[in-house]
Amino acid sequence: LPSTEFRRVLVTGGSGFLGSHLCRRLLAMGHEVTCIDNFFTSQRSNIADLIGHPRFELIRHDVTEPIFHECDFIFNMACPASPVHYQFNPIKTTKVSVIGAMNMLGLAKRVKARILQASTSEIYGDPEISPQPEEYWGSVNTIGVRSCYDEGKRVSETLCFDYQRMNNVEIRVARIFNTYGPGMHPYDGRVVTNFIMQALAGEDITIYGDGSQTRSFAYVDDTVEGLLRLMFQDQTTGPINIGNPNEFTVKQLAEIVIELVGSKSKIIYLPLPGDDPKQRRPDITKAKKYLDWEPKIQLREGLTKTIEYFRALDLRKYKKPTPHTAHRTTEEDAAKKKA
Ligand code: NAD
Repeated sequence: LPSTEFRRVLVTGGSGFLGSHLCRRLLAMGHEVTCIDNFFTSQRSNIADLIGHPRFELIRHDVTEPIFHECDFIFNMACPASPVHYQFNPIKTTKVSVIGAMNMLGLAKRVKARILQASTSEIYGDPEISPQPEEYWGSVNTIGVRSCYDEGKRVSETLCFDYQRMNNVEIRVARIFNTYGPGMHPYDGRVVTNFIMQALAGEDITIYGDGSQTRSFAYVDDTVEGLLRLMFQDQTTGPINIGNPNEFTVKQLAEIVIELVGSKSKIIYLPLPGDDPKQRRPDITKAKKYLDWEPKIQLREGLTKTIEYFRALDLRKYKKPTPHTAHRTTEEDAAKKKA
């Protein structure tokens, strides 16, 4: 889409980590942007630089309630995304994924907008194959402590394809893999956030398990570029993997963070949480082919920028973590109930 073409774009969850970066890019492309957010895991200060922009509008709204809004494109990003956040109220998480997607797909149908659904690598569950291609159907626990998110997102994909089949809604489905960068919530409990926060504070770095589990990390600018390309092309609806295939062990990540921060933190090991995938790595053949996209920013460069962001952050503005279950395991939970 030529950047001169003016479009009305709705971004749900637009004040969050990925959403706020998307809003910024869309405004820079010349579009009119409406952000819908209920500020469950974000705050207006995330998008303070956008408030007052003549083509930016902010609506405080919960996507589990219907809304009517004229637009040409919808990025449906609203959903708590880190285990700490999505396990805070798991029933609500399923609601946001499922009812939120229904509301936005219904809106897309009414106003004839194209809609991109933010899906996730979590739909692959604890994968039996690596890397994961889009054809892999996943290995997901339906009744675990992570299921609200994994299954909610799986249903959101199903809804997209049913709205396409039944109502010809133009859909795009992105399976986003671990993304990090400036704009992350300092208490989201994600591994990159935890390690940087601990390293900056000179606290012990906590690794769950022996640290040999691998993750692949995409820098936010790369992920956002992938989402924009997916939305504004006509080759594929997806689902399409957006992520960085370079794999690191969690222990390697901890060591790199300590080095880049120049911290004296030590690494300590805690029991592995339940349903934690042992490996997660995208096959991005499709993204390369259809979107001519691949990640450009590698881990050290991205981490350096992220560390700068966290260093400058005023932590008083952010809510401390509430009691949560993110590091509980499904088995432990069941055992506690019995006892
Ligand atoms: P985030 O928590 O920073 O952003 C989510 C935003 O949605 C927040 O601003 C939050 O306040 C808002 N929100 C939550 N519930 C809402 C509701 N009911 N109504 C309106 N707004 C609501 O998380 P993020 O990392 O930016 O994730 C954005 C999307 O991308 C999510 O759908 C997430 O599942 C998906 N995703 C992210 C990653 C990643 O690594 N960051 C990976 C896979 C998928």
